[in-house]
Amino acid sequence: MSKFSNYNFANQKALIRVDFNVPLDKTTFAITDDTRMKAAIPTIQKVLNDGGSVILMSHLGRPKEGPEEKYSLSHLVKHLSELLNGKTVLFANDCIGEQATLTASMLKAGEVLLLENLRFYKEEEKGDEAFAEKLSKLGDVWVNDAFGTAHRAHASTAVIAKFFSKEKRFFGLLMEAEVNAAEQVLHKAQKPFTAIIGGAKVSDKILIIENLLEKATDIIIGGGMAYTFMKAQGGSIGNSLCEDDRLSTALEILEKAKQKNVQIHLPEDSVIADKFAADANTNTATSNAIPDGWMGLDIGSKAAAHFSEVIKKSKTILWNGPMGVFEMEKFQSGTKAIAVAVAASTENGAFSLVGGGDSVAAVNQFGFNNKVSYISTGGGAMLEYFEGKVLPGIAAVNE
Ligand code: AMP
Repeated sequence: MSKFSNYNFANQKALIRVDFNVPLDKTTFAITDDTRMKAAIPTIQKVLNDGGSVILMSHLGRPKEGPEEKYSLSHLVKHLSELLNGKTVLFANDCIGEQATLTASMLKAGEVLLLENLRFYKEEEKGDEAFAEKLSKLGDVWVNDAFGTAHRAHASTAVIAKFFSKEKRFFGLLMEAEVNAAEQVLHKAQKPFTAIIGGAKVSDKILIIENLLEKATDIIIGGGMAYTFMKAQGGSIGNSLCEDDRLSTALEILEKAKQKNVQIHLPEDSVIADKFAADANTNTATSNAIPDGWMGLDIGSKAAAHFSEVIKKSKTILWNGPMGVFEMEKFQSGTKAIAVAVAASTENGAFSLVGGGDSVAAVNQFGFNNKVSYISTGGGAMLEYFEGKVLPGIAAVNE
């Protein structure tokens, strides 16, 4: 059992940093995707069930200069109350100051208080100590359940830790699950360990690939970034996505993989299109012989079959980034085939983690969300974790 699960929060005011950075409709301010709110409910419920009270703090959007109506957390109160089975949610129209302090001080066991957007103060992102100290005064214990911002050393996600003794700093249940899943892959992976890396750009994924070269047995590279590898090896890629300033990086990655005995799998064929559009004319081609005027927008059927074989033999799978432009129907077969293979492998006992925005969206879109072992809620944070970086929001709880 974890530290958080073992602790009895009776009569404690738990100051919980959550990631309630949910998308809102621009005119009605209705929540269009409440995944992040739902993910925090078990942590909140545990404190309430113990007989503690809860003070929630979060950021929402990117306010520039102080308070802005469209970024107010007041838009979340009603839905949060519904997610907590109708429990009243109190709201403080500031995250520090008199009203927040007074409401927090009068909070009774079983009550929930939501604070206004932390980023209405620029001190939050600056990691200002005085601001963190003011926040810390609101609660008896600090719980970090915001994995999505764990890679930021902000006041509420990291700096605040120093105002609580080690016994009074906790990971929430979501954060624990994220960290455990990542650790399972990074440090306890059963081999063969296959990393599937896709998406648009090599430059975004270099660090993760380099770190995975130390850990994985196989690395599958798909999506737009595969064409930089094709061109680097002398292939013709037509109008496919390419980062010409990364050609040498691609060759270095291939060379390092050879030295470390890691198998790199590139797509041998591609679905090609005559324009980047849902109604483009399509064809198939060998990925290193794409005719002029055409671009690779998905992996082809041979590549999908080859990648699926590798995935089905794996015991550990990490998937970050789609194999093609899955947002358009004509270019989603490759990503779908990978989702099928990951699901089959998971069914056979492999541990599979899907992390990073677009592969998560793809897995959800294709209805495979219950067929993988873990789907990470933190895109950027998970990516940095897999790059081998120490995340300030995790270090702050552990130190
Ligand atoms: P990333 O955020 O780097 O994981 O990239 C995800 C984006 O890459 C998605 O929006 C995909 O549509 C896009 N993508 C995947 N494959 C290709 C491709 N072959 N050409 C252009 N864009 C692609």
